[in-house]
Parts: sequence; C-alpha cells; structure tokens
Amino acid sequence: MNSNTKTVAISKTCRYCGNVYTKKDGEHVFPYGLGGENLYIDCVCEQCNNYFSGLELELYQKSFLGLMRSTIGVEGYTPNARNRSPFKAPVLLSFDEKNQIVFEIGQQFRMQVFVRPQIFAIGGKYYVEADSMESKQLFADAFVKWKKENGVLTACVEKKIIHVKFTIADGHYSRLSEPVKKDVKKPIQYCTLPEDHHLYDHLSPRLFIDDDEKLKIRARTLVEAEIFLEDLLNDTLFNNQYGSFSGSDLNSPIVHVGFSFDSVKFQQALVKIGLNCLIYYFPQIKENPSLNPYIGYVMHGTHGIKGGMEAKDQLMDSVPETHNIFFSSWEGNVRVRISLFSGQFVFAFWIENLPLLGHNSYHRLLIDYQHRQHTFQDTIAFLKSFPVGSQANEPLSGLAKK
Ligand SMILES: [Zn+2]
Repeated sequence: MNSNTKTVAISKTCRYCGNVYTKKDGEHVFPYGLGGENLYIDCVCEQCNNYFSGLELELYQKSFLGLMRSTIGVEGYTPNARNRSPFKAPVLLSFDEKNQIVFEIGQQFRMQVFVRPQIFAIGGKYYVEADSMESKQLFADAFVKWKKENGVLTACVEKKIIHVKFTIADGHYSRLSEPVKKDVKKPIQYCTLPEDHHLYDHLSPRLFIDDDEKLKIRARTLVEAEIFLEDLLNDTLFNNQYGSFSGSDLNSPIVHVGFSFDSVKFQQALVKIGLNCLIYYFPQIKENPSLNPYIGYVMHGTHGIKGGMEAKDQLMDSVPETHNIFFSSWEGNVRVRISLFSGQFVFAFWIENLPLLGHNSYHRLLIDYQHRQHTFQDTIAFLKSFPVGSQANEPLSGLAKK
C-alpha cells in the first residue's frame, strides 16, 4: 500500500434528504431498541440519522410498543440492570383500596413493579414508602441535598415556568414565588394527574423519586404541592421517624394514565424501518423514484402513502419471540408488512410501481429480538420454515445470522 495514501472519506448522497455527506456512520437497518442487530445501511447523513432517533423514540419508548418492549425486556443502547427497558411514557400508580392510598410505583425488568421511594401525608401524619432500605436512604439523601443546594420547586403551568423557593428563617420554613430566572439545577418538579382521572380524588400530595433519581412532587394543584412541601420541611425540623404502610397490596390494579405519543411520527418510524430493510436487502432499488413518496412521508409526514395497521395474520406471525418483515409482490407493487413482538402488532404499506420481486414471490426478514439475530429468507426458505405437519407455534430452530 502506498504510504502516502490517506483514508479519504468518500462523499455520498443521503437517500432521505439528498444532501452530500462523508461521515461513515450509518443508519440502523432495524432499530436496536426493538432488538435489532448492529446492521447498518450507508445511505443516510448524520442529520437524518439524528432525526430518525426522534421518530424511533416515539415508536418504541412512548407508544404502546414501549409497553410491549418493557414487558419482554428488550434492551436499548444503555443497558440498565434495574430497568432493562424502562417504559417512559405513562405514570404508573397502584391503589390500595383498604387504606385509600395511591402509591407511586415503578417498573423493573419484565414489568415487575416496585414501590418508588415516596413520602405522603395521611391525617396529618407522614408516611415513607420504598421497596428497600437502600432506596429509602437514596430518597432521604436526595431530599437533604435539595434542601442544601437550592430548595426550589419548579412547575410548568400554562406554558410558564414557575419557581417557588423555600427558605428557613427563625427556625421556620416558608415559601416565596420567585420571578423566572435562569435554570435551577435539580429542583423538585411538580406534576399532577388529569382531573378526569378516576384516582384524582384519592390523590394525596406526595414527594417521590423517579427513574432518573429526580425528586418530584405530585399533587392536584401547585398550591397543594407548595403547602405540602412547606409543611413537610417544617416537620423534618423536629421529626426523624416516619410511619410506613409497607406490605401494602401491590397486586391491586396498576393504573396507566395513558399513552402520549405522536401517531404520525410513530407511523413514519415504521415506514422508515420498512424502507431501510428494503434498501439493505435489495440495494438495486435505492435510487428508484417509487420510494420518493415514502421517503417524503418519513421526512415530512406528507400524506399519500397506502398503509396502516393490519389485523393479525396467524400464518405469517407464527414464529414466537421474533419480529417479521415480509416483502411480497403482485401487479408490480411491493407490499411491506412489519409485524412486531410475535405478531401482536402488525403494520403494512404498499409501494406502487416497484416491480422488485418476481410474480408470487416473497421474502421475509426474521429478527430474534431476544438474541439480536436475524435471518433473511427468500420464497423457498420461507416456505421451508413451514414444514407440513409442523406445529404452527413451534419455535424455528437454527435461527442463524445471515
Ligand atoms: Zn439526510
């Protein structure tokens, strides 16, 4: 090799936005957060790649797919021993009917719930709950640190950030609302429940700690939260012992406040996954103009694509623990069918005028999301995966890397 030869990055054109880029990083063929392998297509610029992360977040963290992913425990980029695939969007609560207490709960690997470290007041007395002494200590330490460092509660009410500062004078805590100032580091954040939530009336104010070890206060109104915090601060001046309801029945129903995700972004992400897989396995179509409306949809959410949710198809979704992407063709169109989490979720779209596959032929990409392995099958291999007389639900043996 000529020693003067430097590795020169070759300029490429991003298939999604048309800009020229040189960076070598590629875009995931199938998202890692859904159990995909580290398999990339090199036709996406960094800017588009970053934009896709936002779409994917909507799909596999915020939407109901996030719940499926959490249930199964599919890891993302940052493995976390306690929360293997935390479900970020909904508020999880448990209701103790006997004592009429709403608990803040969290979710661990495979949806096992635990009591978040929290303190609330019932009948003028304070109660501290947590799932272990360690997390109680973590909570207490965070609270002491907050008192020392800023003593500020922040809330976003009608798009306005409000700071409430708690200060001690003459052996007594009191609060004063402060004008908006620069960002406060690690304040207590105020949150609430929608008024029409059926547990709203049972919600007593509480201070708790979330997955990111941030202190939060939940109450029905900001004023209620302020009064609670002020009273609690004053109580801590002379009280070191708090009661507990530990042993409360956590088998009581878990309440989901609801999903809050952008359904267009959700669909854009799915179309992008389909396109990425198509381009990866059929590179000859990369420049085909038939893809343009779909790329337009991924980039701008423009309408005009044919597709949407589908009813579950037993035959196609018979391989457990896998995601499937089918490519089938008829009348010169390609149909892309994405089924995630063993067919519990099915999405499809049609790319018109893309005579990609032969008449009556189809291909399947099978992703084993537990083991991050995939296999790509042509029509013959796909048919062979359904031997005559086999049990439809029998796992496919020898799922191998391509
Ligand atoms: Zn781009």
